[in-house]
Amino acid sequence: EIKNVNENYFGAYSSFGIHREMISDKVRMDAYRQAILNNPSLMKGATVLDVGCGTGILSLFAAQAGASRVIAVEASEKMASVATQVAKDNGLLCSASPNAGNNHYTGVIKVVQGMVEELDKSIESHSIDVLLSEWMGYCLLYESMLSSVLFARDHWLKPGGAILPDTATIFVAGFGRGGTSIPFWENVYGFNMSCVGKELVEDAAQTPIVDIVDSHDIVTDAAVLQTFDLVTMKPEEMDFTASIRLQPKLDHPADTNASMDLEQKPTWCHGVVLWFETGFTSRFCRETSTILSTSPFTPKTHWSQTILTFREPIAMAAGKPNAKKSGGVGSDACPASSVHLRISIIRAAQHRSIDISLETTGI
Ligand code: SAH
Repeated sequence: EIKNVNENYFGAYSSFGIHREMISDKVRMDAYRQAILNNPSLMKGATVLDVGCGTGILSLFAAQAGASRVIAVEASEKMASVATQVAKDNGLLCSASPNAGNNHYTGVIKVVQGMVEELDKSIESHSIDVLLSEWMGYCLLYESMLSSVLFARDHWLKPGGAILPDTATIFVAGFGRGGTSIPFWENVYGFNMSCVGKELVEDAAQTPIVDIVDSHDIVTDAAVLQTFDLVTMKPEEMDFTASIRLQPKLDHPADTNASMDLEQKPTWCHGVVLWFETGFTSRFCRETSTILSTSPFTPKTHWSQTILTFREPIAMAAGKPNAKKSGGVGSDACPASSVHLRISIIRAAQHRSIDISLETTGI
């Protein structure tokens, strides 16, 4: 089972399209490039391990930044050979020169084909200064290679060695009607197709959707769902349950005159959107720290956002932060001042996918 899953997974990474998409993601590239190139005290002379090098782009940056040795590990055979060729074509491959003695090397990058979990002989234990990886999936953890990065950390990173990025945070915020399919299908060239919108909302209540969310459709404040410290976290901490409370966004249009208007309409929350940030913090990036954000409030990335739709919308009493009574789901008689949620993200057994569960809880 695991083997088949991995074959599909690494098979997908063998096609160039996915690598083109990643390399074309400017937000992603700028964050990594900045972290690698603008922190000379970290990178100069360092021994770097690039976990899942793909085309080798991060290893090329590391070589450019003055690393003295870069080990680029890639499970996909196809991509490992591409990374080798690319490093060679750019004069950065570490190989014995045909015209020199056996120990004469021309570059710093060494590409190793295989799973990082199966490297044992290729790297000395705890010999790595900088562990570099772009491991993030949709909603941070879908198809994520985080466990492989933690494995590499525990086997090859020197004590006190750096991990880039070194933090990861999942955020959550509520969205309004505009974030659902409802408005689109209500008026199609003057015809009412709202039955389609309803069906789509029912489907969306079963399965998370990966798509771009317009920041104008966010109707609550944003909350941190979970934070990971890659230096200290244990692999089992990848599975978590968190409880959070979302309050109506104060600058939401429905809130104008909130304190004056007691008869004011509630803010309807139709679901929540999840996104993540990874931090290249000043802990290791002393000269230039950077954040890679996939938020709906910042320029979009190939990760988009992850949308979890409620079965029924929840009414929130906008501008009544002290309201005590709770409104039932779908009721606007006496809306709660905030939405309470319990969200858990658990890796599916022997699989790269994740199970996300969402529960709305009382106050
Ligand atoms: N570093 C590249 C590619 C990132 S995509 C870039 O930033 O553009 C992640 C890559 O990691 C894929 O090519 C995938 O095949 C590889 N990979 C995933 N898990 C791995 C593992 N356990 N060992 C080695 N490579 C892995």
